[in-house]
Amino acid sequence: MNYIKIFDPWKNPLCTCPLKYSLNPYTGCSFSCIYCYISSFIKDPFSVIIKKDIIKKIRKDVDKIDKNIYVSLSNSSDPYPYIEEKLNITREILKIFRDEGIKTLIITKSDLVLRDIDILKEMKVAVSITITTFNEIYKILEPYAPTPDRRLNALKKLKENGIKTSIRIDPIIPFVNDDINEIEGIIETVHNFCDQVIVSTLKLRPDSIKRFQEKLPDIYKKSYYKEKIRGNLYLDKNYRYKIICNIYNLTKKYDLDFSSCREGFKELNTNICDGSGHIKNSV
Ligand code: SF4
Repeated sequence: MNYIKIFDPWKNPLCTCPLKYSLNPYTGCSFSCIYCYISSFIKDPFSVIIKKDIIKKIRKDVDKIDKNIYVSLSNSSDPYPYIEEKLNITREILKIFRDEGIKTLIITKSDLVLRDIDILKEMKVAVSITITTFNEIYKILEPYAPTPDRRLNALKKLKENGIKTSIRIDPIIPFVNDDINEIEGIIETVHNFCDQVIVSTLKLRPDSIKRFQEKLPDIYKKSYYKEKIRGNLYLDKNYRYKIICNIYNLTKKYDLDFSSCREGFKELNTNICDGSGHIKNSV
């Protein structure tokens, strides 16, 4: 296949995703998050490259894929970089998926997803929006991404239009956005507009360590990075378990589904870890 591939979590033993396809409409992302891991495998990660003949090739891929398996869009580069506003590549792909009845999970930080509500309403789809914080520190963490308020607005509008949604608090970073009262504030703010909370703690790779050390040197020094799993530097397991249990308890309070991503605490998940459990089976 050309661009739709079986999702490969780099054999991370802590990944609990079901079998799914992965599609990145673009290579590279314009949002430049300091924690982003695409810089470990894309040469010029924060410039967006258009894939050759993408629409033509996606049509060919769609003929070959198993239609019972959903497509996750995107697991690395965001499907709504700024250039998408002009190019409509993601929009064209969604139209193909709609016409073919392909189950789709969209993961994004962009409210440009709202432009495509007309298509989403006719799709077997769920949308996951990442909000790591409403604090001003988002300007350092995610300097060029749409603001958290715009992402919140996207969640609200999606919900108003009957689209199933989840929120990703990902990554949780010690001394940055791990205050449980602040996290409760996020959940309280979004709980009427989403069905699931997905969390993941910071996992660094050599390239993101460099950016992190540059932008938040004191925080990097204070944090408790312990073990390396498949090339990712993980935080201390006790820290991860404690914060994830605390958030799990909050989601019970607000009657939301819960899951964690690549953490190894599957027993706490109340739905599929990536939010795909909310994909509509019919439209
Ligand atoms: S939005 Fe996602 S892909 Fe884009 S820079 Fe941020 S973490 Fe990377």
